[in-house]
Amino acid sequence: MEGPTLEYSANYSRVRDLLSQGVRGLAAAGIDQARLDAEVLLGHVLAMTHEQLIVAADLPLSAEQVQRFAALWQRRLSREPVAYITGKQEFWSLDFHVTRDVLIPRPETERLIEVALTLAAELGSDKPLRVLEIGTGSGAIAVSLATELPSAEIIATDISTVALEVAQGNAMLHGAAGRITFLPGDLFAALGGDIAAFDLIVSNPPYIRRAQIATLEPEVSRWEPRGALDGGADGLDFYRRIAAQAWQFLTLNGALTLEIGADMGGEVSSVFNRAGFYREVAVFHDYAGCDRVIGAKVATNSVGSI
Ligand code: SAM
Ligand code: GLN
Repeated sequence: MEGPTLEYSANYSRVRDLLSQGVRGLAAAGIDQARLDAEVLLGHVLAMTHEQLIVAADLPLSAEQVQRFAALWQRRLSREPVAYITGKQEFWSLDFHVTRDVLIPRPETERLIEVALTLAAELGSDKPLRVLEIGTGSGAIAVSLATELPSAEIIATDISTVALEVAQGNAMLHGAAGRITFLPGDLFAALGGDIAAFDLIVSNPPYIRRAQIATLEPEVSRWEPRGALDGGADGLDFYRRIAAQAWQFLTLNGALTLEIGADMGGEVSSVFNRAGFYREVAVFHDYAGCDRVIGAKVATNSVGSI
């Protein structure tokens, strides 16, 4: 059976009518923010801001404009995220280009940037900070840090080379390409055996429990890269691997900060405390009151012990 369609007709020939048809179809398909999504998609077709679109409620549309909207609307009906349809997502007040090869940057991840900037401020600014981001995806974290820490030298890695191409494009877009080195590879292996010392290690690793992926919203489970989500059976695989290795790559006062799942504060803290290489392991909450970020410093007796 064919799904709902929008066709050019006198009824939909104005912005307001096409929007209300579009909203009804999306809402009927169970999409929560049907109005917002329809507005973003039509704004994208007409190259209008939200405000311009509201003012243009009575603007007559051409058949071609209606058809272009209908094509995007069909994609949204199949639960493709709006960010993949428009190819962009805002993060830390910057526009990032996104494709299906990268996780769509989340607002919660801005909390990780805040904690990273606090740790960076504590480290001082006598010399340029060396920062490592593991699993950069769209590059949202590395590029945001580059804009906030203009003298930092940043290395950003990912196991996905296609993601790194997207990240590189975003670094260029925001004038940070000269300060971020992108390296492909599995966690610390991307550094090619260099035990280079970093002042700060940052990561939003995959942390969804494998069995839970299928239960997430279809926008996530069907469309986002599985390799960006799958944290193993208990969601903690990447924390265990990072805890076992990160200390070797930190300077004497070095710190690390990682995004964590909303209920993972206790488990991830004990992974880091048990590893024995860290001190000041702390959980930070997001604005919804959920566990969101963990911070830790390298234990002084770990540095130089290899
Ligand atoms: N940093 C981006 C953000 O916060 O929006 C993306 C985070 S996404 C949750 C995790 C990223 O880690 C993905 O881009 C994925 O490709 C990458 N990744 C997965 N396994 C990896 C590994 N073994 N080594 C390096 N990166 C990995
Ligand atoms: N916050 C993402 C989600 O909910 C997961 C990102 C991750 O695994 N780091 O769906």
